[in-house]
Amino acid sequence: MADAVRTTCPYCGTGCGLRVRPAAGGWQVTGDPDHPANVGRLCSKGAMLGETLGLESRLLHPVVDGKQADWPTAIAAAAGRIAAAIARGGPDSFAFYLSGQLLTEDYYAANKLAKGFLGTANVDTNSRLCMASAVAGHRRAFGSDTVPGCYEDLELADLVVLAGSNLAWCHPVLFQRLRKAREERGTRVVVVDPRRTDTCDIADLHLAIRPGSDVALLNGLLSHCADAGALDGEFTRWHVTGLDDALRAARMSVPEAAALCGVEEGAVRRFYGWFAATPRTVTVFSQGINQSSAGTDKVGAILNLHLATGRIGRPGTGPFSVTGQPNAMGGREVGGLANQLAAHMGFDPASVDRVRRFWGAPAMATREGLKAVDLFRAVADGRVQALWIMGTNPAVSLPEADLVRRALARCPLVIVSDCVADTDTLRFAHIRLPAVAWGEKNGTVTNSDRTVSRQRPFLPPPALAKPDWWAVASVAKALGFGPAFAWEGPADIFAEHARLSAFENGGSRDFDLGDAAGADYDALAPFQWGGRRMFGDGRFFTADGRAHMVPVTYRPPAEAPGPDFPLRLNTGRYRDQWHTMTRTGLSSRLFGHRPEPMVDIHPEDARGSRLADGGLARVETRLGTMVARVAVTDGQRPGEIFVPIHWTDRFAARAVAGRLIPGHTDPVSGQPESKHVPARLAPFAPSWFGLLLARDFPEPDGAEWWVRRRAEGACVTELAGSGHAGRRALLAGLEAAYGGEPIQVFDPGRGIARCAWIVDGRLAAVLFLAPHRPGVASQWLAGQVGRDLATAEDRLAVLAGKAPAGRGDDGPIVCACFSVGVARIERAIRERALVSVADIGGALGAGTGCGSCVPELRRLLSSASEGRVAALG
Ligand code: SF4
Repeated sequence: MADAVRTTCPYCGTGCGLRVRPAAGGWQVTGDPDHPANVGRLCSKGAMLGETLGLESRLLHPVVDGKQADWPTAIAAAAGRIAAAIARGGPDSFAFYLSGQLLTEDYYAANKLAKGFLGTANVDTNSRLCMASAVAGHRRAFGSDTVPGCYEDLELADLVVLAGSNLAWCHPVLFQRLRKAREERGTRVVVVDPRRTDTCDIADLHLAIRPGSDVALLNGLLSHCADAGALDGEFTRWHVTGLDDALRAARMSVPEAAALCGVEEGAVRRFYGWFAATPRTVTVFSQGINQSSAGTDKVGAILNLHLATGRIGRPGTGPFSVTGQPNAMGGREVGGLANQLAAHMGFDPASVDRVRRFWGAPAMATREGLKAVDLFRAVADGRVQALWIMGTNPAVSLPEADLVRRALARCPLVIVSDCVADTDTLRFAHIRLPAVAWGEKNGTVTNSDRTVSRQRPFLPPPALAKPDWWAVASVAKALGFGPAFAWEGPADIFAEHARLSAFENGGSRDFDLGDAAGADYDALAPFQWGGRRMFGDGRFFTADGRAHMVPVTYRPPAEAPGPDFPLRLNTGRYRDQWHTMTRTGLSSRLFGHRPEPMVDIHPEDARGSRLADGGLARVETRLGTMVARVAVTDGQRPGEIFVPIHWTDRFAARAVAGRLIPGHTDPVSGQPESKHVPARLAPFAPSWFGLLLARDFPEPDGAEWWVRRRAEGACVTELAGSGHAGRRALLAGLEAAYGGEPIQVFDPGRGIARCAWIVDGRLAAVLFLAPHRPGVASQWLAGQVGRDLATAEDRLAVLAGKAPAGRGDDGPIVCACFSVGVARIERAIRERALVSVADIGGALGAGTGCGSCVPELRRLLSSASEGRVAALG
C-alpha cells in the first residue's frame, strides 16, 4: 500500500490530523492515530473529504474583466489597479478580506504586504464573525490572545460547562473525546444553550437560558462562588487584579439570575453548587458566546470565574475558546485581524517600530484598520476603493448581506482569490485568481489548542491554480517590493514568521515560535506552541504581570422582539455542512442529513403562525426574507427560531441567512450579533410544487422558490411557484435544456404533471409537478438518472415515481458514513426490537463510523420507546 500523506482537516478548529492514500478510483481519508487532536478519530465531514476533490466546480485560470487570462496579465492588472487606487485615495482605500480557511503562510504574506508595504491595517477576516470576542476577552484579561489549556483538559476535568457551543455538530471529535471521558470517568457535563441540541445527549444538566443572558448566569455564579468560599484567595492575591470591582459588578442572587435567564431556580442552584464544588472545571465556549453585541463581556464573565477560582493553567481546568475554522488561530498569530499588527503584537509604538525594523518596511501602518462590518460599510460609501478577498464568501456570510452585495457592486476594484469558479461573491469580481484547494495546499494551520500542524499536498495544482501566498508575493513584486517577498516556498515564509515571533521577545510575549524557525518544514510534526498549558506559573502578559478581572454587567441583545417581529431568530451550523458549502456541497452523502435549509420552531409558535411540520415558511426580519422548510421541535424555546448559515444563491432561492441579520457589533471586538434578530414567520403557500431529478442543475425558470442538492446519481431540485405561467416557463426551460418534448403524463383535473426526458435512451431528467409536495421515491429515482430506460415498463415505472417493492426510500440520512436513513433505522428498531445504539450498529452499521450520528440514534430509540409505552398505556 502506498505511503499515506499526513495532513490536516480543512474544516473546524478541532484540527484533526488525517492520513490520505490512493484508493480505487479516488482517495481514502482516515484519522491520523498519531495526531494529538483526534488520535485517529474523524467526524462525518472529515470522513467524506475524499468525495470533495473533483475539479468540476474549480476556478482553473485567472479571469480579468470577464476574460480568461494568464498569470502575468492578472498580476499586472491587480498591481496596477491597487497602486492606482492608493494613489487616488491613500493607503486606506485598499483592504484585504481574508479567511480562517487560509494557511498561516498565506495570511502572513497578505498581512505583511498591507501593514508593512502598502501602509494600511485594513486586513480583516471572516474569523471576525466567529471568535473576535474571544480574542478581545483574552487580551483584556491576560494581556495576550492566549488559549490557556489543551484538549486533554476536557478529559481530565470533573465538570465541563459547554456555553453557547453545539460541540456535537460544530466540533464533533472534541465531542467524541468528551463523551468517552464521561463514560470512563463520570465527567459531569452542563450545557448552557437556548436550544436543546445534540450536545445535550451527554448533558447532566441543560440550562436553556434566554438568549443573550449568559452574563447574568455567570455573574450569579461568581457571586455564589464568593459566598460559598470557592474563590482561590492565594491565586487572586498574587496573580489577579480587579477581583473586588468585578465581584461588586457581578453581585446577583440566585433568584435574580434565574429570572433574568428564564430558567428554573432549582436548576440554577444545582449548576452553581456543582461548579463551586468542582476544582477541575473547564468552560468551553464558542459562537453562542462570541456572536453577540456583548460578546467581549460574556467572554470576560467566563474568564473572571476561572481567574477568581484559580482554575486556569492546571490539568483539567480553564476557559476554553473553541474556534470555528481550521486556521482562525493561525490568522490571529500572524496578525490577520485589523486590530492586531503581527505575531500577537498590537499597534503600540514599540511594536510598530519593532515590526518595521524586522520587515524593513517602508510604509508601516501605525493604527488599527477597519473591522469586517465597518470595512464593508466603507466599501459601500466609497472610502475603500480596492478590495482583495481571499477564500471566503462575504456576500453570504456577513450580516447585512444585501448591503455587502451593493458595496461589492459599486467597488471599482474587487479581486477574489478562490478555488471554486462560482460563488455569490465571485460574481462581483473584476479579477478572479485561481487558488489551490485542500489536497493541493502546502503550509501550516493552528487549531484551537495552539497545536500547529502541517497541511501537505497529495495532489498537483490543476491547470493554473496557485497558492495564495504566491499570488500575494507576485503582486508585491510587481509593486516594487520584490526583496521582501522573495520566498521560494511556504517553508521560507514559516521560518520568517517564526523568527518575527521570537524577535526581541525574551518571554515578554506569549507567542514565540523561535524554536521552530530552523525546523525541517517537510517533516514538521504537530507541536503546541507555549507548551500544553499556559499561566500555570500565575504570570500573565499584562504590564503588571497579573491577570485583570474586568467588571461586567448583563446587557440584553441590541434589538428586542416587538409587535411587528415577535420572534427571535438564531443562526448556526448543521452537522454535515461547512460554511457556504463550496466543498461539502460536492458530497451527496453530506447532503443526506439536512438536504435543505429548515427553520426550527417550537410547536406553540408553529400553531400561532399556522405552520405545519414539513411545510414551507417565509422567515422575515426588518432586513430581508428567506424561505425554509418548517421543522417543528420542542428543542426550541417558545418565541425562538433557528436557521442555518450555509445556503447561498447557488444552492437555493431565498435562503441566505446573512440577508436577514443587521450589523450590530460588539463595541470592543467588532464581532456581529448573529444570534438575536427579531423576526416573524408566515406560511409560504405557492400553488404548485415540483421535484426535478436530472444529470445536472438546470436553471429553475418560472419557480418562485427552489433548493438544490446532490444525491447518489443525480442532481435534485425541489421547486415551487404560483400560476400557470411559471409552470409553462419551467417546462419550456427544461425542453430547451434536454432537447425537446418529454414523455409525459398529465392529469389536469388534479393539477399533476410528470415528464421524463430520455436522451440517447438514457434518462436525462424527470420532473413531477403537483399542487402539493410530490410524494415520490426520490432516492430510487435519483439512481435511475443516466440509466438506460430501454423498455416501456422502465419508463412507466419512472413516471409513476414508485420504487419496486423492497426498495423504498430511506428518508433523510442519519449516518453519513454508511448512508443509513431515518426510515430504515425506525423500521429496524421496530421490527428487530433494537434497544441500544450498539444494537443499531450491529444491525445496520449506523453509528459505528465517525459517531457523529449517535445523539440522533439515541433520540430515535427514545421516541420508539415512548411510542411503545404509549401503545401499552
Ligand atoms: Fe474535521 Fe470533523 Fe475533525 Fe472538525 S472534528 S477537524 S470537521 S474531522
